[in-house]
Amino acid sequence: MGCATSWYQLLDIRKHARQEWHFWNDRPPIACPIDGQPLLTGPTSQASTLYCPFDGWQWPRDWIQPSEPIGLFGGLSSAEGSYPGPGPGG
Ligand SMILES: [Zn+2]
Repeated sequence: MGCATSWYQLLDIRKHARQEWHFWNDRPPIACPIDGQPLLTGPTSQASTLYCPFDGWQWPRDWIQPSEPIGLFGGLSSAEGSYPGPGPGG
């Protein structure tokens, strides 16, 4: 039974890692991904947006939702093919 316990602990760690990833990626960013400037809240008419005062980067307009790191959660993802792969970048 000792082996079973280890297995479930491992599963829990993977599940936790996935939850933690979503914790950080399912919410608005706090800083510009380009230069790290703290984002400011948009004008009253667009209070739900955030923008970078330095280069005009805007959330969610310019935000690209990152794909789940399949390598970390291998086998647990239900969205098959969502991993863009190690392409040339960009
Ligand atoms: Zn910026």
